[in-house]
Amino acid sequence: MSKPENSAASNFLRSIVQADLESGKHTQIVTRFPPEPNGYLHIGHAKSICLNFGLAEEFGGRCNLRFDDTNPAKEDQEYIDAIKADVTWLGFSWAGEERYASDYFEQLHAWAVMLIEAGKAYVDDLSPEQAREYRGTLTEPGRNSPFRDRSVEENLDLFARMKAGEFPDGARALRAKIDMASPNMNLRDPILYRIRHAHHHQTGNAWCIYPSYDFTHGQSDALEGITHSICTLEFEDHRPLYEWFLDNLPVPTKPRQYEFARLNLNYTITSKRKLKQLVDEKHVSGWDDPRMSTLSGYRRRGYTPSSIRTFCDMIGVNRAGGVVDIGMLEFAIREDLDANAARAMCVLKPLKVTITNYPEGQKENLELPRHPKQDMGVRVLPFAREIYIDASDFEEVPPAGYKRLVPGGEVRLRGSYVIRADEAIKDADGKVIELRCSYDESTLGKNPEGRKVKGVIHWVPAADSVECEVRLYDRLFRSPNPEKSEEGGSFLDNINPESLVTLTGCRAEPSLAQAQAEDRFQFEREGYFCVDLKDSRPGALVFNRTVTLRDSWGGQS
Ligand code: ATP
Ligand code: MG
Repeated sequence: MSKPENSAASNFLRSIVQADLESGKHTQIVTRFPPEPNGYLHIGHAKSICLNFGLAEEFGGRCNLRFDDTNPAKEDQEYIDAIKADVTWLGFSWAGEERYASDYFEQLHAWAVMLIEAGKAYVDDLSPEQAREYRGTLTEPGRNSPFRDRSVEENLDLFARMKAGEFPDGARALRAKIDMASPNMNLRDPILYRIRHAHHHQTGNAWCIYPSYDFTHGQSDALEGITHSICTLEFEDHRPLYEWFLDNLPVPTKPRQYEFARLNLNYTITSKRKLKQLVDEKHVSGWDDPRMSTLSGYRRRGYTPSSIRTFCDMIGVNRAGGVVDIGMLEFAIREDLDANAARAMCVLKPLKVTITNYPEGQKENLELPRHPKQDMGVRVLPFAREIYIDASDFEEVPPAGYKRLVPGGEVRLRGSYVIRADEAIKDADGKVIELRCSYDESTLGKNPEGRKVKGVIHWVPAADSVECEVRLYDRLFRSPNPEKSEEGGSFLDNINPESLVTLTGCRAEPSLAQAQAEDRFQFEREGYFCVDLKDSRPGALVFNRTVTLRDSWGGQS
């Protein structure tokens, strides 16, 4: 991680933390990342992870991972496992074991009883619809519930019976008694507990009442001794409520909340609900589909953890918001892969080339560097009479400026000889199915005397290359603001129908036969690719395109 002084962008929270340490307000900072396990983490969460774990790392503090699991109906162990794996993949480790808000259910319940005893909470029998009506609006104050002035004894009795399972879901709720006329809607007697006869992934069937998120979040932070409770701006209006709880309960510490702007990325959806819809309706192959904005999707796509951390560093942290260009994320991964990915050749649309003057049965092992700048050693590429080039590298009627192979023309095979196209063999439909070429023996590693050969194309030997599948991924949405759709439409209408093009029968150079899941390469002239984590097998390799070599969306974003 970069240090404060050379960070690419500002981060106002870093200054706050630094000041709190310098003034002695805190001797050690404690942050937390608090996901609800109701979906996979996405690129927006990465911003929060890098911020919370990053601050702790930078200032010698600690960061907890806490699952805010108050809504059992939408949560699942699969999400817990995926979230832990993604945070670890990004390169962060949480302090001690992961924590769960549900670990505090007993304590929260005891505190709820305490509020009832203090006359600061009551059991309300209004139905959810009635409660909404009594709540008022932004411009009109709410009205007191007719059940607001129940006695402490009656409230204790009803709350105990709620807990004992005597009432059906929604029949009653426990609410804080604050102020139904408050201009801040969050203070209009917010719900503390709801009845929900639901099995919980952590607590099983122990509870049929569950605390609200608002009643849980701040007190969980207090119980964990969080010094800086960092959250996104939509919780700014909840802060007075969290502080009311901290002031009215015997909490061990009083965390201070700070808000920052969430990450919005163009061409990208970062709503868990919509991501889930993409999965459930099978618009993608799963949460880890390489086109998803989830961390597991980026991982399968070939993004490195460090590229995502660099990106989060580049965008900085502020309260202003705005939309970040996805080009920045693509820039971060391209830079990383340019510097670190081994080079290789893979022919996506093979066209057979027979080099008629190269002796049959002869083979020559050429050595090519794995990387132009880094010392990664060499790879061996056998040159032989039959090779493959890409079908798009030969044109009978070339467009202006075409520098590749044309009838009678010459081109250099990368790391090898200059060849000349002598004859194109066609099938009955006139499609070129093979080229017959001749090579110039004197051109290995140097240009022929007096002739300038401009074009260089990639190739692989026919017999020794490995057949593989290549998946060309592109942005999942074709519109910069995928949330916005024509009237009556949905974000699904903005799906890019060409976001996945699968090519089979591609031919990779022999050194790739040993490639392992998640190995990353620059396929020369084609882009950056990685070995698919899920579907690739030795002998049946699958490569995913991570990103193109250059921004192919020029001007559009
Ligand atoms: P939900 O609607 O399910 O609550 P959420 O996006 O808030 O969705 P959480 O699991 O509650 O998801 O988020 C965990 C943490 O990640 C929160 O602290 C939240 O503020 C932060 N976070 C979520 N989305 C973004 C985003 N786009 N940019 C920055 N931080 C985010
Ligand atoms: Mg949330």
